[in-house]
Amino acid sequence: MQSQRPVVLITGGSRGIGAAIAQLAASRGYDVAITYRSESAAAEEIVEICRAAGAEALPFQGDVAVEADVLRLFDEAEERLGPLSHVVNNAGVTGKSGKLAETSAETLRECIDINVTGALFVAREAARRLSRSRGGAGGSIVNISSVAAHLGSPNEYVWYAASKGAVDSLTIGLARELATDGVRVNAVSPGMTDTDIHERSTRDPGRLERLKPFIPMRRIGEPQEIAEAVLFLMSDAASYITGAILPVPGGR
Ligand code: NAP
Repeated sequence: MQSQRPVVLITGGSRGIGAAIAQLAASRGYDVAITYRSESAAAEEIVEICRAAGAEALPFQGDVAVEADVLRLFDEAEERLGPLSHVVNNAGVTGKSGKLAETSAETLRECIDINVTGALFVAREAARRLSRSRGGAGGSIVNISSVAAHLGSPNEYVWYAASKGAVDSLTIGLARELATDGVRVNAVSPGMTDTDIHERSTRDPGRLERLKPFIPMRRIGEPQEIAEAVLFLMSDAASYITGAILPVPGGR
């Protein structure tokens, strides 16, 4: 039987920031659909933690860059958990760091496919299902951007920074498009956060320690600190906030 609790779908909820959002949402009374691309064991582990907090939680496999996968993820999540009230557009990659001049077309395409096209597929599906004019009950979307959108990330990954600039524009535009439809659209813009992305996607294991001295607060953010900002924007406490991009970068 489906519960009356709000239901949030979190893309890339199996690891890092998405996993922290899933756990905090579960502890704050949400049921949780966790999507992942390939690591089912990581997704199962977070699902178990969410269940232990009293939530209904399920893992769903799919690649956000594949339109058919995104449609199926939403269908399966709503079938199993009930109508979604919130969507967190979190799945993302950087690609191996380097100068643009030395970066392959494959790296550029993969980043844009996942971070931009994937985010658009997910936001479009959320808009279709949550909008009151389309029969939805309203709700909110939170996109995970990055301070890279403003810093530009020279010599590291300007393509990733550009992809997050697109996420910011998506947030502002869709917020205005859905403002009378009962759907708030906001973004959280993390600074450097302690997850596997730096080692596994950027392929620069020493990055966090090397760049720590340049963060005004002189420390790396924890995924839970990003999750707190996301849960605030999802909550009724943020009822008059839409189109906002909330930086959480330790002053960077
Ligand atoms: P992470 O630890 O590498 O986790 C990435 C998550 O996204 C995993 O659950 C992964 O699933 C999933 N994923 C990756 N590609 C996918 C795809 N094509 N389709 C579906 N799921 C996919 O990353 P993170 O650091 O938590 O980053 C989360 C978000 O925060 C990203 O948008 C990132 O750009 C943003 N961000 C991160 C930082 C930071 O310093 N960490 C800073 C600013 C912004 P699998 O495990 O199955 O691969």
